[in-house]
Amino acid sequence: MSEFDLIHQYFTRATHHTILGVGDDAALVTIANNMELAISADMLVAGTHFFADADPYQLGWKSLAVNLSDMAAMGASPKWATLAIALPEVNQPWLTEFSRGFFTCAEVFNVDLIGGDTTRGPLTISIQIMGEVPTGQAIKRSGAKVDDEIWLSGHLGDAALALAHMQGNLTLASDAFTSCAKALHTPQPRVALGLSLRGIANSAIDISDGLLADLGHILERSNVGAAIYLANIPHSAPLGIELLKEASESKSNIGVRSENGANSYNKNILSMLLAGGDDYELCFTAPAEQHAGIIQLSESLNLPLSCIGRITNNAQLTVHGFNDEIIDLEGAGFDHFK
Ligand code: ADP
Ligand code: MG
Repeated sequence: MSEFDLIHQYFTRATHHTILGVGDDAALVTIANNMELAISADMLVAGTHFFADADPYQLGWKSLAVNLSDMAAMGASPKWATLAIALPEVNQPWLTEFSRGFFTCAEVFNVDLIGGDTTRGPLTISIQIMGEVPTGQAIKRSGAKVDDEIWLSGHLGDAALALAHMQGNLTLASDAFTSCAKALHTPQPRVALGLSLRGIANSAIDISDGLLADLGHILERSNVGAAIYLANIPHSAPLGIELLKEASESKSNIGVRSENGANSYNKNILSMLLAGGDDYELCFTAPAEQHAGIIQLSESLNLPLSCIGRITNNAQLTVHGFNDEIIDLEGAGFDHFK
């Protein structure tokens, strides 16, 4: 199969908002006068970001979804993508499933694939995504203000829990694994939420490296601190069950002590919740006046939105435990924003 045939068969589909797509030396698009172009790229490398034998349909979905998540975090409307792919061999069943996953995601979010590059090499998928945002309305990491409320979409920890199961670090019941694996393999980028947050949120980021690290980026860029509350950070039923199991199995709950010793927390579970990657939820900050509006937004989008804390002026990120005590995360080796 020639490279041309491969591109034609697997990576060429009708476009919806593109002047010239796949097939020429460059693609052509127009953007309206009052719009800015938001551009971002994410690369997925076999063995680093996914197992080499990962399901190709899910990989196609996820490759585009993680890029869409960056558009969501900017409040941008995704429109165009390019796909640069290195393939160790021409495996047609694999390509059929990969492109089906990719284009399923592209259709759901109305994105045109407008070009790319195809080459032989270790399996690597590099996608550039482009979207539009009305001039001046992009939601940046640098906009958080002291006293903003900190919000989180969905819940955290499932992707990390599924990964821990796949790595043999714990064993989930099969229905629990199925539900957690969805978060890991077919993440849902929060595009509609991102668009709705224009004019409401002061700052936003998508969670790809864990809540502490990613909220840390907002704090750093905005020159502020934060207090967040463990009890308010939503997690799924499977993660809750693991938490209880771990607590009952170990009499002295190894791991993380709180400052006054009132509670101790299991480090593995805390780590999935606070430092687990791959959740692709949005973390955003907004003035307290927006609180009721955000609750309404949660209902209209049918997406849980939880207020997990507040922006402070003390340039630190503190996590409060169930009795409002400050949890000593640094002592436990968590690497987070200071
Ligand atoms: P060039 O030699 O000009 O780089 P190529 O032969 O690499 O062109 O690609 C031919 C056309 O196919 C170009 O329009 C390019 O953007 C597109 N293309 C190549 N690989 C992909 C891919 N994986 N997905 C989508 N479009 C692709
Ligand atoms: Mg080329």
